Amino acid sequence: MSDDALTLCDECDLLQRNPPLPEGGSSHCIRCGHLLHRHRPDSLNRTLALTLAGLVLFVIANSYPFLSFQMQGQVTETTLITGVKDLTEQGKGEVAAVVLFTAILAPGLQLLLLLVVLLPLKLGKALPPGFPTLFRWFKTLLPWGMMDVFMIGILVSVVKLTDMATIVPGTSLYAFVVLIFVLAAAQAALDPDIVWARVPLAPEHRRPPHKGEPAIGCDVCELLVPEGAALHDHRGRPRCPRCTDLLHRRKPYSLQRTWALVIAALVFYIPANLYPVMSVTSLGQTQSDTIFSGVVFLLEHGMWPLAAIVFIASIFVPLLKLLILLLLLISVQMRSSWRPRDRTRLYRVTEAIGRWSMVDIYVVTILVALVRLGNLASIQAEAGAVFFCAVVIITMLAAMSFDPRLIWDAMEQQHAGDRPAARGGRPEPLAG
Ligand SMILES: [Zn+2]
Ligand SMILES: [Zn+2]
Repeated sequence: MSDDALTLCDECDLLQRNPPLPEGGSSHCIRCGHLLHRHRPDSLNRTLALTLAGLVLFVIANSYPFLSFQMQGQVTETTLITGVKDLTEQGKGEVAAVVLFTAILAPGLQLLLLLVVLLPLKLGKALPPGFPTLFRWFKTLLPWGMMDVFMIGILVSVVKLTDMATIVPGTSLYAFVVLIFVLAAAQAALDPDIVWARVPLAPEHRRPPHKGEPAIGCDVCELLVPEGAALHDHRGRPRCPRCTDLLHRRKPYSLQRTWALVIAALVFYIPANLYPVMSVTSLGQTQSDTIFSGVVFLLEHGMWPLAAIVFIASIFVPLLKLLILLLLLISVQMRSSWRPRDRTRLYRVTEAIGRWSMVDIYVVTILVALVRLGNLASIQAEAGAVFFCAVVIITMLAAMSFDPRLIWDAMEQQHAGDRPAARGGRPEPLAG
């Protein structure tokens, strides 16, 4: 997007001009406060350097032992992938797949996609065909990489095992910790516009909308696409000429999908908290742990900061998120005009906090991998973990399905007539 380009806010759909930004400056939507654009100095070089460092660390983190567990002369060594294998063997393949994807595959793929997309730019070439789609996938993967949450999971696991055995960190753990920061720094250094600006675009696709012509903002690359300039795929659906993502004024069937997912998550929330998430066998005795009893355990051992983290992440956050989504759904359906800016902020909160609930799933994964000495000491994942994992994923999907622009549509309809015709989204909430 060029500096003076028109842009549609992707949270409230207000059409506004993107001001030229000073070094390190940022622009926010004048109506809802959403961050529209941030200038990131020397973005290409910094992101590329961090990506290369990240890939080296990623290989190290996945090649060496991660943690080892020493108890009565017996040693278990684990790599990152061990927990995934053990969960699969214990019949918890769904949880294993989620852990594999969020802790290993998503971060690895993000780094790989970044490298592949940024290298041609660094070599001064135009972006080859198909590469915009790769960069679009990078953006899709962003919320699913959860190495930082995994780190908290490691801390909780180590604390839980200190009574039982000695835990020794391996080479891979150090690489993993550094990788968390390197990946976060790479994401922060990246200005997506350095990529989008290099996608060859025909003049008929980069024109501003004619007077009165509706325009749609692309959700991925933020190009403002006048209706007449959209590409159409073989099924006749409009696509962004720059990143090839499907264009829609509002996320398709946003309310229906979000309702369905919220209800499913509320249903799963009950067994997730009632059933044990794991059982610990020690010297022939088996004891089951629910999420709540895990918090109590940490409290009893004086680890109140960790107890607070697990309580907030596992019990409070999922419920808060579901309540906020319910509030947003009901207020949108009642066409409420109550504090739209605050409701948009609440929506941002639900998008940001959801992933932290994965902590307990990671704790179970790590414990299962570390503690497998048969009757002497072993840990099994239980049904609660499957339900809990489902709650976390479903609430994340629910937040992604909700379209914050619907909050502003009610206001739009009330003020219809006193806005200029260049507004992108006419009240057509469910247009696919
Ligand atoms: Zn806005
Ligand atoms: Zn696009």
